[in-house]
Amino acid sequence: MNCEIIAVGSELLTPFRQDTNSLYVTDRLYELGVRVVFKTIVGDRKEHLVDAIHTGLRRVDILILTGGLGPTEDDLTRQAVATALKIALKRDPDLVAQLYARFAGRRIQMTSNNTRQGDRLENATILDNANGTAPGQWLDTIYGGHRKLVILLPGPPSELEPMFDQACMPLLEAALPVSFIARRTLKAAMIGESAADARIAPIYQKYGDVETTILAHTGDIQLNLLCAKKAMDLAQRRVDELAGKIEEELEDFIYSSQAETLEQIVLYYLGMRGATLAVAESCTGGLMSQRLTSIDGSSRSFLGGAIVYSNDLKTEFADVPRTLIDDYGAVSSEVAEAMADGIRERVGATFGCGITGVAGPGGGTEEKPVGLVYVAVSDGKHTDVLEKRFLGGRESIRQWAAQQALDMVRRRLM
Ligand code: AMP
Ligand code: MG
Repeated sequence: MNCEIIAVGSELLTPFRQDTNSLYVTDRLYELGVRVVFKTIVGDRKEHLVDAIHTGLRRVDILILTGGLGPTEDDLTRQAVATALKIALKRDPDLVAQLYARFAGRRIQMTSNNTRQGDRLENATILDNANGTAPGQWLDTIYGGHRKLVILLPGPPSELEPMFDQACMPLLEAALPVSFIARRTLKAAMIGESAADARIAPIYQKYGDVETTILAHTGDIQLNLLCAKKAMDLAQRRVDELAGKIEEELEDFIYSSQAETLEQIVLYYLGMRGATLAVAESCTGGLMSQRLTSIDGSSRSFLGGAIVYSNDLKTEFADVPRTLIDDYGAVSSEVAEAMADGIRERVGATFGCGITGVAGPGGGTEEKPVGLVYVAVSDGKHTDVLEKRFLGGRESIRQWAAQQALDMVRRRLM
């Protein structure tokens, strides 16, 4: 089954408000194996809304509308659905009574426009709103000879989210054909999205029954595999088979097959080996440490380190020889190595990591351009160093550098 979400509200067409409801709903629907194939944003104009509803009903099985259920004149979702489906919209005395009771409970005089929220679409199931006044509505109907679900939800996320979980999910589960959903998330580091896809597309294209999506973000790739079948073992087998083939193809770029983060994996390997890590960060300013320390229990393996931004601190906190900085420059493989080694010894860790680079936008030279980053990992006997030229703005370069450093430690440990 597929779905379209229509986010209703003129404010969502301005640069000042974003439609976040559809993100929440999409995520929850994914768990049920329902795919969102269209999203539409419509302003508070009835004829536009009716138009969008017709378009949606022609192309999906489930149409979800969010917003426009309030008491004001610009809240037109109920009327638009009634017009599009040619069904009646009638004031429901029970709903109106509940509205009055809700206001009375808060010692507030209800204004008469609120009674519009008691308008119920013909044959609609009411979805209780525990956190607001506008109830949601659920319609199981026929349009163009096909069965359609039309679901109206309130705009405020604080009302929509609990309503979706408590009232909508159970109804959806009951309405959908029985199927079992198997899921796997594979993660890969430091391989480009297009490079990864070029290698794995020929593989996943042979699995038409497994939905494969790729998400890429500064050196991190997430591959989501999902398969729905009449029996769980059938679905699981297909997903596992495809996951195995992708892992084989991407080899050691893959760092997780169960959705863990890269920092979780690094800490996991450190823990398994009974090893510890210390870092000396320059251009990343603590980003690598931040990611590691965000994991509960990281103190067992991550000892800490220093942000050695100035040349003086590189010498003072990581024992980088002054002459090395004078001879090769602060951004050099020699200094990265010395940082890794220095911090490792200073802290008494099994492994030391050093990161130095030009994050930009200023400070680049022909010899050492913006984006040039050196990362080193040392265990006291052997030091790996990588020279990289990352693209993008300052923040992106810093994130790539931290990702690279975590990945180097991972590869060293594997
Ligand atoms: P409404 O029920 O359309 O009057 O919406 C009430 C409020 O909910 C709006 O002013 C927005 O702040 C918020 N809202 C409406 N639609 C969305 C949406 N799609 N995503 C996030 N917030 C929304
Ligand atoms: Mg609105």
